[in-house]
Parts: sequence; C-alpha cells; structure tokens
Amino acid sequence: MSLSQSQMISRPLTKSLFSIPITYASIHPQRFCCHSLPNSTKDGVKHVFDEPKVQILKHKMEPLGITLDNSCLPGNYHNLFCPKCKGGQLMERSLSFHIITDCEFAMWRCFRPTCGWAGQVFVDDKELDNKPFEKMDEKSLGLEPLGPKLVAYFKERLISEKTLSRNAVRQLSHDKNVIAFTYKQNGLLVGCKYRTTEKRFWQGKGTSKVLYGLDDITHTTEIIIVEGEIDKLSLEEAGYQNCVSVPVGAPRKVSSKDLPPIEKDTAYQYLWNCKAYLDKAVRIILATDNDPPGQALAEELTRRLGRERCWQVRWPKKDESTFFKDANEVLKYMGADALKRAVENAEPYCSTHKVTP
Ligand SMILES: [Zn+2]
Repeated sequence: MSLSQSQMISRPLTKSLFSIPITYASIHPQRFCCHSLPNSTKDGVKHVFDEPKVQILKHKMEPLGITLDNSCLPGNYHNLFCPKCKGGQLMERSLSFHIITDCEFAMWRCFRPTCGWAGQVFVDDKELDNKPFEKMDEKSLGLEPLGPKLVAYFKERLISEKTLSRNAVRQLSHDKNVIAFTYKQNGLLVGCKYRTTEKRFWQGKGTSKVLYGLDDITHTTEIIIVEGEIDKLSLEEAGYQNCVSVPVGAPRKVSSKDLPPIEKDTAYQYLWNCKAYLDKAVRIILATDNDPPGQALAEELTRRLGRERCWQVRWPKKDESTFFKDANEVLKYMGADALKRAVENAEPYCSTHKVTP
C-alpha cells in the first residue's frame, strides 16, 4: 500500500462530508460544485489526486466526457456538468459524481429526469468491458401496469386504483403475480422492490437505498414513517400523502451498542441518504407495526432522527386483549376515518425499550 493510499484510507470521513447525499446535491446543485470543498480536505488534495487508482479512473472516464478537476476527492459527492444533456437550458451541474473512498470505482447519475444518465467505471481491468448502466426505466425492469388480479388483491386491502396509479405501483410483465413498488426520486426511477402475493420480498438490482415515496416529502415539515409500502398506500387512503416507508422492514431488536458512525451504519443508509429531506421535518410521526420488531424499528429511527421531534402512533384495540398490527389492518377492518384518527392521536415518542445493563 502506498503512503498516499494508506493516508487516505485512514483519514476518517467527517459527518458533514459523508452526509452530503446525492439527494441533497440534486436539490441544491449550486452548493456542491467541485470548487467548494471544506478546508479540512485541502491538504490531501494533491496526494489523493495523484493516487494511481484515481488516475486510472480519470483516464477511463475521459472518453465518456467526464473530466475531473483536482477538487473531486474520493469519498465525497460532487456535482459536475453532465456530458449527455449538458445540464439542460439552465446548464445545471446535474451529474452527481462519486469516487468511493478506496478508489476502486467511480459512479455517477444525472438528476435531470429527462436525462438520467448513470454509469460506473472500475479500476480493475477485469471490469474494463463493464458497460455503464442503462438508464433505469419501467421497460428495462420489465414492468407493466397492474392487471386485474393484483388490482383485486389491493382492493381487498382497501387500496384504490387511484392510489396505486399515483404511486406508480406496477407488476412484472413475465410474472403477473409479482407486485413492483417503484422507488422514485425527483420523478426518476431509482429502484424497485418486488413482492409476491405470498409476501415474499426482494429488491431489484441497482436499487438506491432510499425511503419509499421520497418525492412525497419534498415540501413537508411533517412526515409519517411506516414499515412497508402497503402501509404507505393505506395512509394515502386516509388522506396522508406526506408519508414514506422504510425499504427493508424492521430489525429483530434494538441494538445494545452505541450508534455507529454514519459511514458504518449500513442497515440505515436509507435514512442518511435521505437526510436532506428528513432534516426539514419538524415533526416525524412513526407508524410502525405493533410488534417487537416494529417497536425496535421505531426506537432505532428515533435514535437517528432525534427523540424530540418524534411522535408515535398507537394502533387501536382489535378486541379485549389485542391491538391492530399496522396501518393496513386498521384501514381494512376499521376504515379510513379510524386510520386518520389514529394518526391524529399520535403521542410524543416514549421509549418502551429497556436498556439492558
Ligand atoms: Zn444529463
């Protein structure tokens, strides 16, 4: 390992550097041009840029029209000019560009919905013939509008066709039993999660780690977070569009350890990637499932979002001794008004988590 390389790897990523998500850069491109780096990184610029791996990446990207200047440091996100669309009429720096910290590869995506050019190059020669990613769209994922069978599946759960349509819920064209929840950001498809009617889930290749329904919280200061895509759709039936779902369900239990640094907090990258959206919220209502994993998820979210702005929904009683489990159950058995009332009656978050000594 060369000196410059070891220096780079051992240099800790500061919170402020790491937390610049693609999302934020895409909203405030003027704030993340390549020339406005924090002072703390200036010392490292020359060393890092002379790093052989970066030279290889640079060499491979030049024919694609991506030219770096010396301030494009590995580990940071940068907004460059997109060689495909040239930033449109406004000539925005719409290409979000990133070299990963160990310099093994670089990746980029243009955030203009009409362009969406994305790709990556690797240092390793094995990957030389790796073609840049195609723009992700419904056709390339093999999606089609929901057919009668899945529309009926949702209807039974009191999710209307209007809600399905607004959220661009689709099905796989080669397997009409598979629901496709499309993940979008700035109107652009960034991923897909699949679900069979037997409740088997998987994520599409190349799916960004972001919240489901992100574009619905762009302009809100009050946000509802639920545990699944169908719960988000359920809340829409009760009149709430300002709702997002976590993409991966709940943990088994609350971690007994201290919060890891952001870059090591792998299970919650979807939160950090959406930090700019969440930072705007003054009130965050957690409407997770009424079971131990759901409560653990609420606790883990609260630890990261800040307890003081978190509220929690208590699902109503089902019978003498049990409670409804989630938003969709309440919608299905009690109706949209009851679901609305449950959200209105959210209480300031109060941890039920016992810290084990
Ligand atoms: Zn572009």
